Amino acid sequence: MHRLIIAVDGYSSCGKSTFAKAIARRMGYVYIDTGAMYRAVTLFALEQGMYGNGTLNRRRLYAALPDLQIDFAHDGEGGQPEIRLNGKAVEDRIRSGKVADLVSEVSALKPVRTRMTDLQRRMGADRGVVMDGRDIGTVIFPDADIKIFMTADNDVRAMRRLKELQQKHIETTFEEVKANILKRDRLDKTRKNSPLRQAEDAIVLDNSHMTPEDQMVWFEGILQKLQA
Ligand code: C5P
Repeated sequence: MHRLIIAVDGYSSCGKSTFAKAIARRMGYVYIDTGAMYRAVTLFALEQGMYGNGTLNRRRLYAALPDLQIDFAHDGEGGQPEIRLNGKAVEDRIRSGKVADLVSEVSALKPVRTRMTDLQRRMGADRGVVMDGRDIGTVIFPDADIKIFMTADNDVRAMRRLKELQQKHIETTFEEVKANILKRDRLDKTRKNSPLRQAEDAIVLDNSHMTPEDQMVWFEGILQKLQA
C-alpha cells in the first residue's frame, strides 16, 4: 500500500492525540499535533509581551509570523515527537491554562492560519503522516486517504482532560475544564477561517464508551476496507 495521509479532526479533548499517536505507531508514520502548533504561537505571543491589558497586539504577532519556527523533534523522550518553538522544547509550557484560554482566539486569525497551513502541508509533503487538528481533512489535506472525525460526550471529555492535567500537577476543577472545552468548541466551530466541521467524506468515531484498544480494532476495520 502506498504511504497514506491520515487526517484526524474533532472536538477538544476527545482523545484525538492519543488515538492519532497510536495509529502513527501502528503504521510506522510520523505524528503531527497541529493543536500544539497553535498553542506554540499563543505561548510565543504571551512570552513576547504581546498582550497588553488582555488584548493581543496583532500587528506585532503578524510581523513576527514569517520568522517563527515551529517544528517537531522526533527523538524526544520515549520516542514521542516534541514540539519546538524557535528551536526550544515547549511541550510543558503550551499546556498551561493561560495558553488554553487564549489559543482559540489566536487560531482564528487568518495570518496565523495561513502560516500554520503552510508549515503543516510541508510536514506532510512526504506522506506517511497522521495529523490531528480541526481542519486537516477539510483544508490542510482535503485529499487525505483516511479522514476520521472524533467526538465524545462533554462530561467524558472534561473528565479525561481533568485527569491529564492532574497528572501534570496542573491545579484546576472539573467545571473549569468543562467550561474551557465548551468555549473552545464554540469558538472553533463558529470562526470564519477554517472552522471546525466534519468533512463530507469523514468517518465519525464517537469514543465516549470505547477503550484505546477498542479504537484500534475500529481502525483496523477501516484499514481493511481501504485495502479490499
Ligand atoms: O488540539 P488542541 O486542543 O491542543 O488545540 C488547541 C486549539 O488550537 C483548539 O482549541 C483550536 O482553537 C486550535 N486548533 C485549530 N486548528 C487545528 C488544531 C487546533 O484551530 N488544526
